[in-house]
Amino acid sequence: MSVPSFSIPAPAAAILDRLEAAGHEAWAVGGCVRDSLLGLVPHDWDLCTSAAPEEMVRAFQGWTVIPTGLRHGTLTVRLEGENWEVTTYRADGSYTDHRRPDSVRFVTSLEEDLSRRDFTVNAIAWHPRRGLRDPMGGAADLEKGVLRCVGDPRRRFDEDALRILRGVRFAAWYSLAPAEETAAAIHGERELLHRVAPERCMAELRRLLCAPGEGLGPILREFWDILAELPGLDYLGALEGYDQQNPHHTLDLKEHTIAAVVSVPAREELRLAALLHDGGKPRCRTVDREGIAHFYGHPREGARLAENALRALRCENALRQRVVQLVELHDLWVPPTLPAARRWLGRLGEEGLRDLLALERGDTLGHAPGCQGERLELLDRWEALVDEAVSAGECLGLRDLKINGRDLMEMGVPAGPEMGRVLRYLLEEVQEGRLPNEHEALRAAWRPNPDPTRRCAP
Ligand code: ATP
Ligand code: MG
Repeated sequence: MSVPSFSIPAPAAAILDRLEAAGHEAWAVGGCVRDSLLGLVPHDWDLCTSAAPEEMVRAFQGWTVIPTGLRHGTLTVRLEGENWEVTTYRADGSYTDHRRPDSVRFVTSLEEDLSRRDFTVNAIAWHPRRGLRDPMGGAADLEKGVLRCVGDPRRRFDEDALRILRGVRFAAWYSLAPAEETAAAIHGERELLHRVAPERCMAELRRLLCAPGEGLGPILREFWDILAELPGLDYLGALEGYDQQNPHHTLDLKEHTIAAVVSVPAREELRLAALLHDGGKPRCRTVDREGIAHFYGHPREGARLAENALRALRCENALRQRVVQLVELHDLWVPPTLPAARRWLGRLGEEGLRDLLALERGDTLGHAPGCQGERLELLDRWEALVDEAVSAGECLGLRDLKINGRDLMEMGVPAGPEMGRVLRYLLEEVQEGRLPNEHEALRAAWRPNPDPTRRCAP
């Protein structure tokens, strides 16, 4: 493989030089080398060295260092306002808990350090003067587009089951095809995932789902069983091969879901919502006299299942709520009118409504080709209306109303339920275009109402 130019940041190069000036060996390793070989810009640079932890501390005397990870061989060096991690070459001991090595042993051989790493493409070292050190053949695998475990795949997954998910993520991100034995072990050892902490599963799932669509689609197809092994997601297993028996659908539920996932923008709330949007269908199926299946109520059931799954995965509340709301609303198809656009902007906010439209678009792109046109046109109209309402700075929610509770209190509206009723009424009048969103007009629209059972219409 011709070696593309590596652009190692100056502080990382200075750290390598400093260690070598002190008589040790030091290399860049892992993701930064893999990404550089692919012509991508690495998001961080992991460095490794033959220096033992206390030797590292000595080598960096006079520099700012953070020794938090030193027991595991990692020293953080603070340089030019950034943290750089340097790790002593390590060989991991046995893994009785299938997560962490029972012990780590510091070693002086780079080769030994590379052999504890998960995949060959992650086990390549690079040095500004010495070039690549690649005993596992990672660069060749990268060029062939192959993801291969370092060593025996079953043993490596048994040591640390998180590697199963990391493997699926790397394969999706870099369009790598898992080698035969690696793929077989991913499937065969998948039950080990039950031993991985749910939050770590969630962190990997989020990263996996944000992979570019070209790589993600085939990997979701091949490793759907892995998704269904994650906490709370076993119900996704039922989507595989599920015939929707409906003229709107030519794809089974799993394929429809994958089409929706890769069609929405690569943001985690959208990708998660697309993955979970139709999860409620199998439980909501009815068949009419013509033999056509319907799935009434599936968005609500899907939202319930999504809520449970995201709780089981220990997803943070804000993300969980956004995803569940998107799943619940994904099949609404409200007729596109300006008042409806204002109302929904008020309810979901601009970002929330745009996300919902993006999810509906992704969902539509997973429908039978002949059934997409009408829905796509409807979505185009919705998007144009949202643009119009937003660019006119129109009244979207109570916060944007040009009158607030304090103004109304001064005008004699009692605080409490009556206040809420008046504000909602005024908001609706503005959203429907019957009143301008202007302070004076809103003041004039409300008159004290002697009969509390009457609406406070002007
Ligand atoms: P990215 O940072 O893009 O996720 P990366 O490959 O740099 O990719 P890190 O989690 O930053 O991944 O880990 C750095 C390196 O440490 C990896 O490239 C790999 O060599 C090694 N590594 C990380 N996690 C494991 C693991 N669970 N088992 C074995 N080696 C691992
Ligand atoms: Mg990294």
